[in-house]
Amino acid sequence: MSTHTTEAGLGSLHDALQDHDAALPERFPLDIGGELQDPERWNDDLDPATTDVLASVGTASPAEVDRAVAAARAAAPAWAALAPSERGARLRQLGALVRRDAEVLSRLETRDTGKPLAQGRADITAAARYFEFYGSVIEGFLGDSIPLGPRSLAVVEREPHGVTAHIVPWNYPAQITARSVGAALAAGNATVVKPADEAPLVALAYARLAREAGIPAGVLNVVPGGAEAGSALTAHPDVDHVSFTGSVATGRAVARACADRGRPSLLELGGKSAHLVLEGADVERAAPVIARALLLHAGQTCTAGTRVIVHESLHGELVRALTPYFTDATMGPGLGDPTVGPVVSGPQAERIGGFVERATGAGARIIAQSPMVDGLRGYFVAPTLFDEVAQATELFSEEVFGPVLAVTTVGSDVDAVTAAHHSRYGLSGAVWCRDIDRAIRTARSLDVGQAYINGYAPGGGVELPFGGSRDSGYGREKGVESLREFTRTRTLFVDVAAP
Ligand code: NAD
Repeated sequence: MSTHTTEAGLGSLHDALQDHDAALPERFPLDIGGELQDPERWNDDLDPATTDVLASVGTASPAEVDRAVAAARAAAPAWAALAPSERGARLRQLGALVRRDAEVLSRLETRDTGKPLAQGRADITAAARYFEFYGSVIEGFLGDSIPLGPRSLAVVEREPHGVTAHIVPWNYPAQITARSVGAALAAGNATVVKPADEAPLVALAYARLAREAGIPAGVLNVVPGGAEAGSALTAHPDVDHVSFTGSVATGRAVARACADRGRPSLLELGGKSAHLVLEGADVERAAPVIARALLLHAGQTCTAGTRVIVHESLHGELVRALTPYFTDATMGPGLGDPTVGPVVSGPQAERIGGFVERATGAGARIIAQSPMVDGLRGYFVAPTLFDEVAQATELFSEEVFGPVLAVTTVGSDVDAVTAAHHSRYGLSGAVWCRDIDRAIRTARSLDVGQAYINGYAPGGGVELPFGGSRDSGYGREKGVESLREFTRTRTLFVDVAAP
């Protein structure tokens, strides 16, 4: 094992991040026990805008995962014993450092994931907010006292699980790492983060900034990797809780491995969220929100509203209003801030292409599609608007994870809700309707974790609990709710003797 005793600050990356053709000037080792550690294996992290190697990054072996868990286990008691105000101060400092280095981190996230720079910047601002939010609310995260009468004192305290694992996908690594780790650290856990091999750079940067923020060695370990590292972490006997964000199939494997060990897990999985545009809805208000939310990160957002279920009286008007967002969308490398950047990888681009082909074969009609731009080398997929998508088809019920919107027409509110439930997912949904009582009733009848009315905020806000139902997973991250997830109760009971 070779370790690095010195490390370049993020500033050394600055110049290479100005230009989408430049490779990063340094390698990114694993970050274990407060040190950069050279891995057994290096992985080529590709820039999706060019398909060139962006950086050489460590990809953890099971033995290296084991080292990361051991480092977390060793650090956990002292971190948990710090006063919440002290842990909070260090997390808020981490948030401040993320803000200080926001431009470098935003460009890093943009080049690693392919998303437009404005979205990379928004993600980094949100990430800083997660560290600041959890660094603040932990000081007011109270236990309970339960009144049982004069002969007892019953107090319910919240304590950390110990070592928490955080398995993060490639689409929003900066935000997802910050939201999950921010809450777990504030609650007093020591953490092991496993970012995806496709986009691990910002999570590794957080570990460097955490040192500068005074977060002790071993409290935040970052070991990028794929299925092998993920399974090793999930099955590890010394991991007390696993938070997983990713696909349904992998999530179920993670949950099974946790169940085998009798340990809790949290699953944030995929979605097939619907916009229900009811009779009398304000189409001018709805169309831009629907289109922009879908095209965010080229449709690779778990909460993307990928289906529009519109009342027949508004169908023509809505489709006309949506069309220009697809025909006029610009495509290019994320640093140039186009409407859509590339998708994350070649296999992902092929997968989306397969959905488009099969949907056309099943009778859906493409009514708008952005023209492909000559000379683009990366993994680009044209934003595509489908109409007349039958409810019994794959495009209507399965997650595409690309810039593809499916429109279906219905005749009533009840039919709209039935259509929305024609999918195994239950992540988010939106109801568009000027009659607010009708909108609230309809939103309440949706079996989803987040329901919006006359608006749509994919991912919601830092303060709002977030999660899904049915195949979209269980457990909640974000908001104060997440602190309950990353703690367990201990009841202290005192028998008070009579005088
Ligand atoms: P994925 O399940 O393939 O990978 C997710 C993570 O799991 C990666 O870090 C990957 O390396 C790791 N992994 C792979 N195999 C593993 C195994 N056997 N054991 C443990 N970990 C393993 O998912 P993906 O295709 O990278 O991500 C896209 C999916 O994630 C979509 O379905 C999307 O909707 C979902 N997602 C959900 C949310 C949410 O908050 N609900 C957010 C973002 C993405």
